[in-house]
Amino acid sequence: MAAYVFIWSMRVAGGFSDDRRRAQLMRILVVEDEPALREQLIERLRGEGYAVDAAADGEEGAYCGNELPLDAAIVDLGLPLLSGIHMIRRWRDAGRQFPILILTARGQWQDKVDGLESGGDDYLVKPFHMEELLARLRALIRRSRGWADAVLRRGPLALDIRAQSVAVSGQPVSLTAFEYRILEYLVLHADRVISKSELTEHVYDEDADRDSNVIEVLVGRLRRKLDPDTSLHPIETLRGRGYRFCLEADSSG
Ligand code: CA
Repeated sequence: MAAYVFIWSMRVAGGFSDDRRRAQLMRILVVEDEPALREQLIERLRGEGYAVDAAADGEEGAYCGNELPLDAAIVDLGLPLLSGIHMIRRWRDAGRQFPILILTARGQWQDKVDGLESGGDDYLVKPFHMEELLARLRALIRRSRGWADAVLRRGPLALDIRAQSVAVSGQPVSLTAFEYRILEYLVLHADRVISKSELTEHVYDEDADRDSNVIEVLVGRLRRKLDPDTSLHPIETLRGRGYRFCLEADSSG
């Protein structure tokens, strides 16, 4: 356990509170059987604004990965009941596409090869720096959505997922953390209809008190902030179905 204490003490100095403000509207599964590391991952990821689910063995992990609407998973390979490799294969065999970051023990190079071949997307050797894990996770999620850049541009709207800032026609728009999370999710899934329940699931953790009326209020506020003179109509409401972000992608900038 002592080996992981340094994860907390290292690199905390620079911009910790900034990172915390950079909430991401993303749902992450952590599958790790070492309780101390699992708890540290959960706490830090939640602190970063992710919604986090966790499993302590391969069977529970396989179930969560098949059932939950995940944006990414962090997977230890050495797991009880079902190995990480077999768990990942089950997800991929079931057609689950979310990106997977593998955690391996030092020196287990065969694990890395097996992990990547079974369907993992990247790996980190333990013990690791939490900042590196967060950076790799962000990169995996970005790549999985086909965005190489940290700035997503749709029409006059520019959303910087690293700085967690938003501008319309070059003018910064001030959003609360929740408003930002909703907008980021809608933009990342642009051109698809997002139901209120999907949005709610990605905003809140499993245990959190969910209220879809809150989503309506937040979307309403977002619209007024992004489009005060109602000329842009960035977020469409499809009655009974949900929301769709409908500004066109713009790769020129
Ligand atoms: Ca393990």
